[in-house]
Amino acid sequence: MKKKEVVLQGIPAAPGISIGRAYLLDSEEFVISRRKITPKEVESEVAKFNRCLVETRRELLDIKNKISEEMGSEHAEIFSAHLLVIEDPVLINEVISKIEKELLGAECVFLDVMGKYINALSKVNDEYLRERVSDINDVGKRVLRNLLGTKKETLETLKEKVIIIAYDLSPSDTAIMHKRNVIAFTTDIGGKTSHTAIMAKSLEIPAVVGIEVVTSKVKNGDFLIVDGTHGKVIVNPREATIKKYERDKKRFAAFEKNLDALKELPCHTLDRRRIVLAANIELPEDVSSVLSHNADGIGLYRTEYFYMNRKDIPTEEEHYNAYKSVAERIHPKGVIIRTLDLGGDKFLSPLHVPREMNPFMGWRAIRFCLARPDIFKTQLRAILRASAHGNLKMMYPMISGVEELRKANAILQEVKEELRKESIKFDEDIKVGAMIEVPSAALTSDVLADEVDFFSIGTNDLIQYTLAVDRVNEKIAYLYEPAHPAVLRLIKTVIDNGHAKNIWVGMCGEMAGDPILTMILLGLGLDEFSTSPINMLEVKRIIRAVSYEDAKKVAEKALTLSAGIEIEKLAREKLKEVAPDIAMNI
Ligand code: PEP
Ligand code: MG
Repeated sequence: MKKKEVVLQGIPAAPGISIGRAYLLDSEEFVISRRKITPKEVESEVAKFNRCLVETRRELLDIKNKISEEMGSEHAEIFSAHLLVIEDPVLINEVISKIEKELLGAECVFLDVMGKYINALSKVNDEYLRERVSDINDVGKRVLRNLLGTKKETLETLKEKVIIIAYDLSPSDTAIMHKRNVIAFTTDIGGKTSHTAIMAKSLEIPAVVGIEVVTSKVKNGDFLIVDGTHGKVIVNPREATIKKYERDKKRFAAFEKNLDALKELPCHTLDRRRIVLAANIELPEDVSSVLSHNADGIGLYRTEYFYMNRKDIPTEEEHYNAYKSVAERIHPKGVIIRTLDLGGDKFLSPLHVPREMNPFMGWRAIRFCLARPDIFKTQLRAILRASAHGNLKMMYPMISGVEELRKANAILQEVKEELRKESIKFDEDIKVGAMIEVPSAALTSDVLADEVDFFSIGTNDLIQYTLAVDRVNEKIAYLYEPAHPAVLRLIKTVIDNGHAKNIWVGMCGEMAGDPILTMILLGLGLDEFSTSPINMLEVKRIIRAVSYEDAKKVAEKALTLSAGIEIEKLAREKLKEVAPDIAMNI
């Protein structure tokens, strides 16, 4: 019987259409019976267990080497932790002695022992040890798979192009997905600006997040269409639906190809107001996409990914080499390095930061760095040293008031002084900015402007704090409104205050890449837009199609409206007039 077509609606996270088979991440459930063995079989059972450990070890080393070659050894460190688990003599001896004593098959003894470890670790008070539970789980599954002889493809060994279905994706999952056979992904949870959505954009694959039921409605191997532009996932599509989406896919490809012609053109309005159109990157390897889109530099380099998928904290040399290489590759254009923004939905295991009730409002970003000057200074030293090799700026995340900003700048001065004493070169005139992503910072931006060289508005956070809407919670995603009058008023305040003090104001939150709002932001006077490379050409197309004078009128009108929905309607109407091709494809 033909399966029924089902349409699931979620939140569009990265545009485009992919058609293919579903691959459920972490869907494995092992059915293991309590298989009795005879005393005579003990020896061969123990030998089988040892063989499996060797095989699992080989698999882990293979993956570790592959990731290390492709992404650098720091990113492969997570697999060293996995190796430690299967090399643990206490665990191995316990399994062997239980096989001997209880006369049970290796797989069920192993499952029992792992269960005991996981139980014990989940209860300990140490956050670091608790986080090891997921390592033990991962390795445990691998060993069981080998013991049971059920070979299963994993993310690292995907041979076919697939669409990943998951409850959520961890930063280590998305890092592994880099360059793998993943053509789209969809998740149960998450919002438009969660780290998974941002990663999907930098991977340049369609993604839909926050579907809530995708892992329960989709089975491994189901045929799917993912429409990342409209946030739809179609399960078991009918022939006619497939044909429609194949046509849409072609149209989207043609639309993107048309936009390619803009790459070589400068980003200015019809009346020649020059706008800086920069790109956001998460990993140093994203620089290639920035270059191929011919961006005016990098407006946000999120350095926290550098701390992920590893057991230790990056050394000053590692930071320095990464920043230097990005600065050199992008030269003579510039890069703005954002100092560590740990926390929120970006947890970093090597730093042993405890989970909190309200992580977005907690010990994160600059607050963490000021409390851990050792970690902060290591990064600042590396940024300053790298500044000798290119056009490099830096900015602090999550500034909430001038005191914090002054403290951060004071530490920066200390680090500069240290380098001078050591006769280490750096750009003495390095420009320092503050991200404006907390309403208190926006409202006191007149004061903050005296302490920095530029502002970059982080709307992903600014919107969540202004509207009290958790940016990763799909249940309240309908309230996450970039066009809300409160958000626009704050943005206007920041731009006006920045300009009054003669500093430039950019935006690096996802809002900067939302073509519906480009005209309003332009009209509010934004100097720089920093977007994911995949949004950049749409933004450029609009900026080149409108005059600054007209954009100002649209912004002025928007500021008189009372609800986000009215502002969005106005913005869409204007977009249709100015760039109908864009309006049709978003
Ligand atoms: C933002 O908050 O808009 C931003 C750019 O930072 P992040 O998304 O990394 O929090
Ligand atoms: Mg932020």
